[in-house]
Formats: sequence, structure tokens, C-alpha cells
Amino acid sequence: MDSLCNSIQYVKGVGPKRAEKLKKLGINTYYDALYYFPRGYEDKSEKIKIVQGQDGKRQTFELWVAGKAAMSRPNRKLTILKMQVRDETATAQIVWFNQAYMKDKFKIGQKIIVTGKIKRVYNRIEIHNPVIESDNKFKNISKITPIYPLTKGIKNNDIIRIVDNVITDTVDTIQDTLPNSLMIQNDLIDLKTALKDIHFPQNMDSYAKARRRLVFEEFFMFQLGLMSIRKKINNNEGIKFNKSPKIYDLIDTFPFKLTNAQDKVLSEILSDMNSNKTMNRLIQGDVGSGKTIIAILAMYHAVCSGYQAVMMAPTEILAKQHYESVNNILKPFGIRCDLLVGSMTQKNKEVVKEKIKNSQVNILIGTHALIQDSVIFDKLGIVITDEQHRFGVRQRVSLANKGYNPDVMVMTATPIPRTLALILYGDLDISVIDELPPGRKPVKTYPVGNNMSNRVYNFVKEQIKEGRQAYIVCPLIEESEALDTLKSAQVMYDELIDSYFSDIEVALIHGKMKNTDKEYVMEKFKNGDIDVLISTTVIEVGINVPNANIMVIENAERFGLAQLHQLRGRVGRGSEQAYCILINRGNNKISVKRMHIMKETNDGFIISQKDLELRGPGDILGIRQHGLPSFKIANVFTDIDILKEAQTAAKKIISNKELLSSQENNLLNNKIQKLFNDINEIDKSF
Ligand code: ADP
Ligand code: MG
Repeated sequence: MDSLCNSIQYVKGVGPKRAEKLKKLGINTYYDALYYFPRGYEDKSEKIKIVQGQDGKRQTFELWVAGKAAMSRPNRKLTILKMQVRDETATAQIVWFNQAYMKDKFKIGQKIIVTGKIKRVYNRIEIHNPVIESDNKFKNISKITPIYPLTKGIKNNDIIRIVDNVITDTVDTIQDTLPNSLMIQNDLIDLKTALKDIHFPQNMDSYAKARRRLVFEEFFMFQLGLMSIRKKINNNEGIKFNKSPKIYDLIDTFPFKLTNAQDKVLSEILSDMNSNKTMNRLIQGDVGSGKTIIAILAMYHAVCSGYQAVMMAPTEILAKQHYESVNNILKPFGIRCDLLVGSMTQKNKEVVKEKIKNSQVNILIGTHALIQDSVIFDKLGIVITDEQHRFGVRQRVSLANKGYNPDVMVMTATPIPRTLALILYGDLDISVIDELPPGRKPVKTYPVGNNMSNRVYNFVKEQIKEGRQAYIVCPLIEESEALDTLKSAQVMYDELIDSYFSDIEVALIHGKMKNTDKEYVMEKFKNGDIDVLISTTVIEVGINVPNANIMVIENAERFGLAQLHQLRGRVGRGSEQAYCILINRGNNKISVKRMHIMKETNDGFIISQKDLELRGPGDILGIRQHGLPSFKIANVFTDIDILKEAQTAAKKIISNKELLSSQENNLLNNKIQKLFNDINEIDKSF
């Protein structure tokens, strides 16, 4: 097993330079390469003849090299390389653009398998920038070619070669993680075969079997991990906070009444807190349902019993916002609150840490920075994570490990069906805030076409004149597009300040800005010094500026429903009528449907359900947007049956120690440790 930890650099044909690039894909070791699963496959078992080539299609041919490659350079930026090939039916040209290094790769007469896009030029066929395999070049390869996610400087064939070499080098050392009996019971193939076949399946059947095995394993490990956390927590004696009327005095100072749903959830929380059971609770509530105030109440309750509280948020902007709310509400009650985020100076951080250590601070709010080892609490009583879906189980647990069995509460705006939540958050109890504060007018949503932007921006301008504020969001979809999109937010900004918004305060905010700059802009927006905030999706989660009542989403067709809903949730937080305008610049059927759903409903649960219906299987990005744990290969929606099987199997093992022989037990344990490697003392007894 050990050789799997070797650096990828030592694989034949990699070296330090390539290894650097592979790192970007998360491939650091042999193990990572084995588990770097294809995102799709190209079935080349169906080869066609040259005469059947169809213009514009991507097709696969079995051909012979018929001539030497010839190069031309029509201009300084372009090299064109052409090579003649043939089969029994005709000849064709392979054409490479800017790939001069392909020049002497092939010998006349050599048999090659060519897959590429066909271009018909008069009566001749050209195959552009194809993927080429010569027979017998790759040992493990088959007719079905894996397609991998790539990065600049790494081509699909590079990864195929690397994975192929890794498999050849390591396959004999791979030990199965699952016990034999379990594999038989659940009809699973062995790990060795599964890993080989997931990359290079002989046919779709062997692919399906390989996938099933790997999906099962992923779910199974995850379930075992959660169950052992839960078991550990349940066995622990938790903190018993004092019942105290103080919390109701605080509630009386609010300018509003808690909703029934907030009341219900608060009492669930308090009953956990006031018992000696360790609270481990998920709070689900749609955007704007008022989760923050519940968190503040829980923290205050802990502080009233002499404990400290900590709350972690996924972004600095959000952490700062929470810090301000907590301070506003609790300072008058003599509660000391502080902030810890990455962008603070070392010195300031030290000061805060010192205060935390000796209980000069009661409540600490921050980002991931809170997890560092150097953050030590004197007497931590409750740990809260906001927007839980941005964090992993690990981070949640490592924050909790800073106290002695503190109560744990995680909050998320992600509405998922309860049955699924019960499995995925198997270690948590669940509370749902299923009601919005009264008096909220539903956000009016208008999907519009490209040609309407004129009217949209005039409308925004009118609203600004009335004293409102607006967000304009531009998409940022994939890293490879980051630069373009950054420009488009920038371009949007440049255009708008020169035209519609020439006499209005406009600011730009995007993910590449320094945190301090982002905060500066956000602060000004909150204070109303900025009227229009043009941004990428950095404002997606949690931001609360009640006076902002317009959300314009540019290129709305590029956003998923869950994300559109999150974005829309930024407005409609005040008393004014709010508007969400979706500028659709595409004409894709699904995106039109999405716009329609957004127009029809404001209900997060319905939107979530529809989103899943519209998405195809294997949509990893979609799953992330839903805030579900992201698995390497498993899909929590389409693989729900396997998920249930894995859960049943995990339950059986956890409840029956003798089910596993000790050797098998060890391998399983190792793997789970790896999966949750920040979690101390995972229960080793199962
Ligand atoms: P989210 O659940 O999306 O995190 P927030 O906690 O940010 O929502 O709350 C949204 C807004 O609603 C805040 O301005 C908050 O003060 C306000 N709010 C919370 N609870 C109530 C309530 N019961 N009645 C009226 N307004 C409330
Ligand atoms: Mg929130």
C-alpha cells in the first residue's frame, strides 16, 4: 500500500515540472492518480471508414500513416502540420494546429487509431487536432477511452499514460479495503479490478461494475465515519448549561417577534443544551429565514453559563457581518466578542488568541482561521458553523475538538429532502426553520432577454433615485474562464459608469481582490455609500443588506437554480418590494425552464426539487451547489439505492464487532482515518 503514497513525480514520463501541473488537478501521489476518475468516456469500439466521415462530427477511425507530416507557417502565430493517412476506402489528412512537436511522431505504414473532429473540404476529409493512439502503446487501454478533467499543459493522453503507468506499477500492491463477506453480500467486485476498469473498461458492463464498487465504498466509508463520530459523541457526557431566563430578556429587546418556526427550533436547541447530552444539530432554513439570530441566542445562552462560544463562517465578509450583528445585540449585555480572520495582522491575531485563551473574550467569530492549532479556548461550550455546506465534516469536527465535548450546531440554507438529509448528515439531529419572518413581500422575479438590458438599467436607476441599492452579478463558472469573466464584471463596470450610472456611486467587487479591499467595499455598500455593487458570485452566501432591493443577474443562463435562489436571497430582506431580474443571454431550453421556475416560486424546497429534476446524473457542480458532501464518484441523487445499501452495511458493521477479522478491520480503519484525518480518536472499536 505504501508505494501508493509516492510522489507522482516518479511515474515514468512525469518529472518535477509535470508534477507541478498535476498538483493543480489534485494529483500529488500514485494514489491520487488511481482515484482521479474520468469525467466521461469515448467509445471507440465503433470505428468508421473514411468515406463515412461526417462534417463537424467527432469520429474514430483505424488508419495507416500514408505520408510524412509537412509543416507550414502561414503567420508567426500559427503552425499547421498536415499528415496523410488512409484506410481501405479513401485517404484523409490529419491537421494539427500549433502542435509542431507531432511532426516526427509517426512512421509511414504505422497503424493508428484516430479520434477527432471531421472537416470536409470539398471532397476530402480532414481530421483536426485528433487524439491518436498507436496499437499496443498502452497496456491497460481498451476501446473505450477515458476522458479526464484537464488543466493547462496537461492533455488527456498525458493522464491516460500516467494512470496507465501507475496501474501497471501498483496494481499488485493494492489491497482490498472491504471485507470479503461484505463484497459477496453486496455483489461487489474487488478493488483492484474496479480501479483498473474505472479507467479502462473493456465494455460498459465492466464499467458499471467498477463504478458500483467504488460508489459503494465511498458511501460506506462516509457512513462509517459519520456513525463513529455519532457513537463517540453519544457516549460522551456533554455540558449541561444552566436554565436561565436571561435569554428571554434578550429576545424581548428585539424589534421583532421570533417566528413560530424560530421558537420551535430554539426550544429544540435549548433542550439539547440544558441536558447533559452533547448537542450535534443541523439547522436547516431557507435564505432569510433568520438563522443568525438563533445562533446568537444559543451563544448567549452558553455565555450566561460561563462558557465561551465560537462561530465559523465561510468568508471573511460574512464573518465580519456576523461579528457586527453579535456585537450590536450582545455588547449592551456586557458580552465581549471578537473576530479572527486570515487577513488580520499577525500581531492582532496574537492579541485575540491571548484573550481567547484566558477568557477575556466570550464569543469568537471567524473563518477557517479559527481551526489553527494555535487557537486555544479556555472554556469552549458551543461551536457553530454557518453555511455548513461550505465546510467539510472534518472542519466541523476539528473546531469542536477545541473544547471538551462542546455542543455543536451547524446551519445551512440548503433545502434537501429529509430522507436524504438523514443519511448524509447521519451524525446530526435536524431542525428546520420552515417559515419566513412575516411581512416579507416575495421578491418579484423577471426573466428578460438580452434586448431588455436598456430598460433594466433604467429601472435600477429609478430605484436608486428612490434611495434603494442594487446588486449586479456576473457569472464566474470555471477556473479556465476566470480571466474572461473577471473582465466581464470589469467591462460591465466600465460600461455602466460611463452610461446609465454616470451620476451614481458604483463599485466593483470580485474574488481576486484582496480581502481588505473587498471588506472596504462591502462596508461602504452596507452603509449606503455605494448604490450599485457589481460583483462576481463572491456575494453569494449570507450577505445581509436590507436596503438593497434589486438583484440583477447577468448571463443568468449560466447559473444553476440553487445558486440563483441563493443570489436572489440577498434581496427582499427589508420592507421595500424587492426585484430579481434575470438577464438571459442564452437560448438553451433548460435555462429557459430554470428562469420560469424562478419566476414561479420563492420556495427553496420546491426550487431544490426542480433543480434535481432538471439536472442530469453525474453533475458534480450541481451537487456542490446544493451544499451536499461532494464525493469523488458517487452521486447522492442518482445513486441513492447504493447509498441505502452502504448505510445498511455500515450499520451492521458498527453494531457487530465480530463481523470483521482484525486484519480487515485495520485496512478499513486506515481508510476512514484518512478520510476524516483531522478527527481525533475515531472510535477504533468497531
Ligand atoms: P439567514 O437565515 O438567511 O441567515 P438572517 O439570519 O440573515 O437569515 O436573517 C435575515 C434578516 O431577517 C435579518 O435582517 C434578521 O434581522 C431578520 N429577522 C430574523 N428573524 C426575524 C423575525 N422573526 N422577524 C423579522 N425579521 C427577522
Ligand atoms: Mg445566514
